[in-house]
Amino acid sequence: MVYAGWGDPTRRAGLPPHALAWLHREIGSGPARPAAASVSVPPSRLDLPGAHTDDEVRARFATGSSYLDLLALRSGSVDAPDGVVSPADAADVAALLRDCSSRGIAVVPYGGGTSVVGGVSPLRGSFSSVIALDLSRLDQLLDVDEESLTATFQPGVRGPEAERLLNARGLTLGHFPQSYEYATIGGFAATRSSGQASTGYGRFDELVLGVVVQTPAGELRLGRGAASAAGPDLRALVVGSEGVFGVITEVTVRVRRVPEVKRYEGFFFRSFAEGVAALRAMEQAGVAPDVARLSDPDETRVQLALSGASRTQRAYLRARRASCFAVFGWEGTTVTARRKASLSVVEGALSVGTSAGEKWAHGRYDGPYLRDDLLDAGVLVETLETSARWSSLLRTHGSVRSALAGALPGAVVMCHVSHLYPQGASLYFTVLGRQSDDPVGQWTAAKRAASDAIVGSGATITHHHAVGTDLRDWMTAEIGPLGVEVLRSVKALLDPAGILNPGKLIP
Ligand SMILES: Cc1cc2nc3c(=O)[nH]c(=O)nc-3n(C[C@H](O)[C@H](O)[C@H](O)COP(=O)(O)OP(=O)(O)OC[C@H]3O[C@@H](n4cnc5c(N)ncnc54)[C@H](O)[C@@H]3O)c2cc1C
Repeated sequence: MVYAGWGDPTRRAGLPPHALAWLHREIGSGPARPAAASVSVPPSRLDLPGAHTDDEVRARFATGSSYLDLLALRSGSVDAPDGVVSPADAADVAALLRDCSSRGIAVVPYGGGTSVVGGVSPLRGSFSSVIALDLSRLDQLLDVDEESLTATFQPGVRGPEAERLLNARGLTLGHFPQSYEYATIGGFAATRSSGQASTGYGRFDELVLGVVVQTPAGELRLGRGAASAAGPDLRALVVGSEGVFGVITEVTVRVRRVPEVKRYEGFFFRSFAEGVAALRAMEQAGVAPDVARLSDPDETRVQLALSGASRTQRAYLRARRASCFAVFGWEGTTVTARRKASLSVVEGALSVGTSAGEKWAHGRYDGPYLRDDLLDAGVLVETLETSARWSSLLRTHGSVRSALAGALPGAVVMCHVSHLYPQGASLYFTVLGRQSDDPVGQWTAAKRAASDAIVGSGATITHHHAVGTDLRDWMTAEIGPLGVEVLRSVKALLDPAGILNPGKLIP
């Protein structure tokens, strides 16, 4: 039995009647699509001593967590790696890569398996078999340098465990993506992940000070001192390399002292443009909150409907023409002063108090469970993201919305801005539609339309989900043909047999 859903099934709350009624009103009704009771996998073709080849283990490492992955799992039949190997340390990883290179076995590094872009799909490339390289046994905090505020982790440590180990010393990483409970330090580094407080704490790539990587050609140890001018920064070739160049076996990160105070507060703006202007003003004045998140009118409308907001609350908001909900969060020792500084450069923010902000913070890891309930109800639910410069952010927002609405008639398309930079911000879209009889074809057409709209508007194909298989075709538009050749040359040097994660990242 493999559970075809997110995390801990006992945390699933199910869709309340008012949410089901809302769904039927908004996107129409259709047949329920419950998940198959069990998942079958094809027979293993592997001949590798030490690999687990029983079906249940292979099924557990067969997919990541994308909509397509969930559709496949729920159908009851998935392709799976031919075996799963769980090395104990970096030396084991290095030996395994040498062995697989000489035997011609593809290797998929597997962290938490939360990839939403097909990053851990068991593709064989030109080889006859593929293994999942399970990194969960590399789960140690190796070093903490409290004087320099750094910590060195093995890659298989999951988000909550990393925080627990650091918190015990009064420290925090401050990296809280929505997948935090299951994603790993190695996965964060391999995908250039971004947490929900990245505006304050920085993206994961900004937190990485050093990495150790095992490649089929040998070990790379990168990142000395506090900063360096010793040639191009090779860490940047590893961070974001999605397992195609090597396996990250150590990550040294910048850490901070645990904040004394956290204040999350809800606000409303009268329009998306007004809210975006507020975010830009705060960020460019250097007074942005650590968490800054602004929903567009559709996302706000849906949040209000699903949260069961009362008539009085809605009337209050309507009277103030409040259409876009925002959460701002300040953390640290000078929260009151920082809040004042942030709001001093903002026009039109209507505070609705800390309870709305706290509610968001409290429920921020529950969204993925809702996705499973929506899938049961036969709903297409997909998220995609990009980042754009401030001068084109609203244009990108409009074109991606139109592309998704065109590809998925009747769907609800929502978006929020988060992750601020002086030059721009990310846009995160969620789409809910009625599943067609060909959900994979339906998704493929919609994803293509949205991705074309993203690159067509000059924005990036991914701000934090990474490329995987799903966005690989847009990499040439992103970095140009010569850029793709650079990636291919690096791969040919570090992974001459081409065993590492075939079919991901590089077109
Ligand atoms: C519900 C949900 C919410 C999400 N929210 C966010 C979010 O807020 N922010 C965000 O950034 N992402 C988010 N993601 C995407 C995903 O969680 C991130 O990409 C995360 O960094 C992946 O970590 P992981 O350990 O699960 O990696 P995996 O999914 O196991 O792997 C991801 C990729 O990295 C490679 N890889 C993994 N470990 C290593 C290693 N040690 N060495 C080399 N390569 C490796 C894999 O081969 C694969 O290509 C979300 C995903 C889900 C399902």
